[in-house]
Amino acid sequence: MPEVAEVQAHAERLDRDFAGLTLAKFQALKFTALRTVAPAPDAAYGEPLERVGRRGKYLLLEFASVTFAVHLMQGGRLLVDAKKSLKARAGQARFVFAPDTVPALLLTEQGTERKAGVWALDPATALSTPPLDTLGPEAWGITPDALLERFALKNQRLHGFLRDQRMLAGLGRLLANEICHRARLSPFAMTGSLGPPGAATVAAAIDACITEGLAYERSRPDMSSSKDRPSAVHNRTGEVCPVCADTVRAIEYVGYTVNYCPTCQTGGKVLADNTTSKFLK
Ligand SMILES: [Zn+2]
Repeated sequence: MPEVAEVQAHAERLDRDFAGLTLAKFQALKFTALRTVAPAPDAAYGEPLERVGRRGKYLLLEFASVTFAVHLMQGGRLLVDAKKSLKARAGQARFVFAPDTVPALLLTEQGTERKAGVWALDPATALSTPPLDTLGPEAWGITPDALLERFALKNQRLHGFLRDQRMLAGLGRLLANEICHRARLSPFAMTGSLGPPGAATVAAAIDACITEGLAYERSRPDMSSSKDRPSAVHNRTGEVCPVCADTVRAIEYVGYTVNYCPTCQTGGKVLADNTTSKFLK
């Protein structure tokens, strides 16, 4: 799934190439693509795209009368679409700009999950309206003090905390694995026990991992797929840790894998998950 680095770099690309263009039409190619009824997308017809921004893992296409929040979920992409084919492959929705000679933006989603979508929001209240209202503070740039406050909300495993968009917005499976490794902390470390030194360590790791991911993503002409993204432990089960040469381990869950290095993160201990069945989320 695209995380903060991928979404941020894509927002920057789209802002560079599409800001200022006038919205001619929003087309829901699948009836499930538009998740809201008001405001109507056509309220923004004839208006220039003011900017493309980001909140958490959502792209924000901002017009004077409508903010479109786009979530790519697992297999979604918001692609530059010069052809504007009526039968666009995996097409979910399309933003058509004027004049007719400029490309459109096409939301595609591979697979059958149909979870990617578009929310049309009132710009004045967009950030306090579903689905954006439950997002925690941005992970990118979080300070140690602010992170310590989030830790205090609920005593839970660090890996789960990092992936929870209500706790911090923008991180996913890759960055959760990478941040724990960078911080040299167990993915099962409890947030309530980390204290100010732990918060400082994790905040620095968040910053370093996002900065690296962003540098890679900004070097590309388009959004990477997860197998392309640089990582030390994520998706590297059985490979050699680049820091200490121990073997990267995995704990498998339904839908995601926790990767970690025993020497770097758990004092050499191989983790077994006794408290959560692998068949439960
Ligand atoms: Zn290591």
